[in-house]
Amino acid sequence: MKIYCDSVVLPTGRQVVESPALVTIKDATITSVQTSDLDMADADIHLRDAILAPALVNSHTHLALHSLRGLTSGQEANMVEDIFFKVESKLSNDDIYTFAAIGAYEALLSGTGLVWDHYYAGESVARAIADTKLCGVVAPTLQDVSGPGVTSLEKQLQATESLNAETWQSNGIWSAVGPHATDTVSDELWKTCTYISDSLNVPIHAHLSQSREEWHRSLSAYQKTPTRRMADLGCFSRKNLWAHAIYLSAEDYRLLESQTIAYCLLSQSQFAEPANIVAYENQGIDWTIATDCAASNDSMNLQREISSVSTVAAHHLSNDPEDTSRESARKNNASIWSPEYLVSRASHLPGALHPQFLAGAITPGAIANLVVYDKNHPALWPGENAVRALAYSNAAPAIRRMMTMGQWLTEDFNHSSICKSDHYAQTVHEASKRYQSLRKSI
Ligand SMILES: [Zn+2]
Repeated sequence: MKIYCDSVVLPTGRQVVESPALVTIKDATITSVQTSDLDMADADIHLRDAILAPALVNSHTHLALHSLRGLTSGQEANMVEDIFFKVESKLSNDDIYTFAAIGAYEALLSGTGLVWDHYYAGESVARAIADTKLCGVVAPTLQDVSGPGVTSLEKQLQATESLNAETWQSNGIWSAVGPHATDTVSDELWKTCTYISDSLNVPIHAHLSQSREEWHRSLSAYQKTPTRRMADLGCFSRKNLWAHAIYLSAEDYRLLESQTIAYCLLSQSQFAEPANIVAYENQGIDWTIATDCAASNDSMNLQREISSVSTVAAHHLSNDPEDTSRESARKNNASIWSPEYLVSRASHLPGALHPQFLAGAITPGAIANLVVYDKNHPALWPGENAVRALAYSNAAPAIRRMMTMGQWLTEDFNHSSICKSDHYAQTVHEASKRYQSLRKSI
């Protein structure tokens, strides 16, 4: 299949650019991207009044936590332990499948093609992702010190290995190793995780330094920060993915230079604990944009997150009119305002984190996950700057078509066509029944 479009969003270094291009797709993969000597007669599909962009890559979420959306107040001392763990201990594998499927549909409808998910019952999450035609890197959650996953550790270790298989990959599913967090996982299990990561050639995806409790527990049990402990356990010997990294010492920032941090601004803001991306930038740490989950965001719309991140650098500036640091700070942090830079953090940078595939990029060798946006939709018209539109506009309602693994999802891809599909109707009916019984039990 050869697709021509005047406005194609292409990766270049740590940025994206807009260019006319002819994109060739064979099976599930982009095989060539031609940007010069273009002859539209070569195209099977000529997209008019459209933007052709890579489907976004959400580098940290828990799709099944759609079931807890709206249940928290933000005033909990420790939301994960006080609310999530209690509910999660009651979830069956079938609950997790149906709730994750609803989350997957929301992700798709906002232009996300691949998610890095971290949850209990990894195979149920993987089935939900594959059945909805989303793609995912699934990290079955591993815990051995505390948390609802302690009793299913062996099963989730097995799932980590069984998901790393050609049959899953042909359905858009890859595996990652998912130790939960530094205070719920022992040194021994962290070492096992680094061993599995090396032997399967898949990254570790874990939470790091996400709460004050975790920080203090680490200092009292190990006399070191959570980040220092991870470094000492060899967890930074390959490039891994760490969600949050909020509480960091000056030394921790240096230790994280070789790692990637998933930054979930809207979720972290609900806890009043946003991480410091200006410090990440100053330290040269790679960071990506992610949503976390509907229980704490409350949306899977990653595109909304991109525009929110663009406001962050401004919040670090002084409000003193005599303070001349404002202009220099704005210049120093210019990248955080840059649409070209921000879009890359939710597309090809997280799409290159797994050694077994490329996603989030319209480039040869990447999986063909594409979104066609309609420039004549009022949310995007007149569609002058495609990259800016993806970073700052509300682009999701303007999605005209979407492709994952080289297959168009539906001819007319929008909210009503998805919600009228048999699979969605059955899933939401089943999920609602299961949600009602879960609500009675908590
Ligand atoms: Zn999380």
